[in-house]
Amino acid sequence: MILQNGKLLREDSPERTEKNARRWHLNQAANDQTAYSEDGRMSLEFKVKLHQKRAPGDLTVAAWVAICEFFGGCAYCGQKIPATSCTLEHVIPVSRGGKTDVRNVVSSCWRCNKTKYDRDVRRFLGWRAEEFLERHAECIRKVMGE
Ligand SMILES: [Zn+2]
Repeated sequence: MILQNGKLLREDSPERTEKNARRWHLNQAANDQTAYSEDGRMSLEFKVKLHQKRAPGDLTVAAWVAICEFFGGCAYCGQKIPATSCTLEHVIPVSRGGKTDVRNVVSSCWRCNKTKYDRDVRRFLGWRAEEFLERHAECIRKVMGE
C-alpha cells in the first residue's frame, strides 16, 4: 500500500486481492470440519477463528454473537439479518493495522462490507459516521461489560 497525495494506491488490483482472499478462505475451510454448518453457511466459530488467524485480537465466539445480537444485523445500514448471515467487519481495516478485537469488530451485511472495503469508517459513512460511532461505543460497553 502506498500513500500518495493523500490517496491510497494499491499495489494489487482490488479484483486480484479479493480473489486471493477467497482462495485463502476456501483453503482454510478445507482443513477444518467445523467450517460450515448443516445449512451450508460458514459457522460462527469458524468465522471468528479465520479472522483470528488473519489479524489476532481478543474477540471470542461469545463476544461475536453478542455483537451480532446488539446490532441485530448490519451495523452500517441497519438491515436486519441473522448472525449467521452477517460478515465480520473490521472498523479499522486489517490492511491498516486493525485487529480482531471486540473494539474493532462489528456485524455487517455483505454489501456494506464490500463497499467499505479498506476505507476509514468516517469516509465510508460520511455524515452518518457520528451516529454509528455512538452505537459502536455502546456496543463495546455492553459486550465488554463496562
Ligand atoms: Zn449494510
